[in-house]
Amino acid sequence: MIYTGRFAPSPTGPLHFGSLLAALASFLDARHHKGKWLVRIEDIDTPRVVENANDWILQTLDAYGLQWDDTVVYQSQRLRLYEEHLHKLIHQQEAYACCCTRSELSVRNARHLYDGKCRETPPKTDASVAIRLRSSAVKSEFTDRIQGKQVLHQSRADDFVLKRRDGYFAYQLAVVIDDHDQHITHVVRGADLLQETFRQRDLQAHFNFQQLEYAHIPLATYTNGQKLSKQNLAPAISNNKVVENLCFALKCLGQNPPQELFQATRREIIDWAIKNWQIEQIPATCVLPNQQEA
Ligand SMILES: [Zn+2]
Repeated sequence: MIYTGRFAPSPTGPLHFGSLLAALASFLDARHHKGKWLVRIEDIDTPRVVENANDWILQTLDAYGLQWDDTVVYQSQRLRLYEEHLHKLIHQQEAYACCCTRSELSVRNARHLYDGKCRETPPKTDASVAIRLRSSAVKSEFTDRIQGKQVLHQSRADDFVLKRRDGYFAYQLAVVIDDHDQHITHVVRGADLLQETFRQRDLQAHFNFQQLEYAHIPLATYTNGQKLSKQNLAPAISNNKVVENLCFALKCLGQNPPQELFQATRREIIDWAIKNWQIEQIPATCVLPNQQEA
C-alpha cells in the first residue's frame, strides 16, 4: 500500500507557527517516503468555522511550497457518508442513543467517561438524542513513531459520542471515516491529539478499518513554557517570511538545516528537507523564542 498522509486543519483561523510545524512534518514524512499527501478541511463543527479561513490555510500551504495531491476534501460535504456509517453501527447494535444532558452528566461525574446509563436503559424519548459508541475497550495500547508506546487503562469502556445531541457529527466519527475513505496510512499531527488516538483506534476496530501508523509531534512552546495555540492567540504566520519560517520550523523539528539554507530559495529548502528528513530527530519539545514574530 502506498504511503498516504494528510494534513487536516479546522478552519477556525489562519495557520499559526504550531500548525505550520504539523503541516510541514506531515508533508516531509510523506514526501520522504515517496508517498501522497492530502489536505482535508475539518469544517463540520460549523459554529466554530471562521469564514474564509479555509482559503487562508490553503494559500499559506501554497506559499510555503507544501503542495498537496488530489482535490481538497471538505468534511461539510460528506455528511451523508458519516450518516451511512453511523447507521451501520446502530444497526449492528454497536452504537446507541443517549438522552443524558450535559448537566445530568456533570451531576453523575460522567462527562468524560460515560457511566453507561442509556446503554442499560434505552431512552424513551423522541427528543434529541446523542449517539454513543458501545465500546468494550478498557485497555488499549499502540506505539507512536515519536512518542513511543502509549498505554490506556481505564476503569470502564469509553462510550464516547459519535453524533451530538445538537445534530453535529463528532470529530472522532468524521476523522475515522475520512482516514479510511481516503486510504490514509500515516498520520503525523500535533501531540494535542495523542489521547484522541485511543478513541479513533477503538472506532476503527468497530468498523473493521485498516490500522494506521501514528506520529505525534510535540506541541510548540515558548521558552517561558506557554503553549502556542489558537486559544492563546498565537499570531498567524506571514506568507512574506517563507524562507525564514521554513528554516526556523526545520530547526524546531530537530532537522539541523545547514546555515547556507537560510539564504536558499523555498524550493531548495523543501528539496533539502525531503531528502534529509529524519523523524527520529524530532525533539521532545519544540521550543520557540518568546514573542517569536513568525
Ligand atoms: Zn444517556
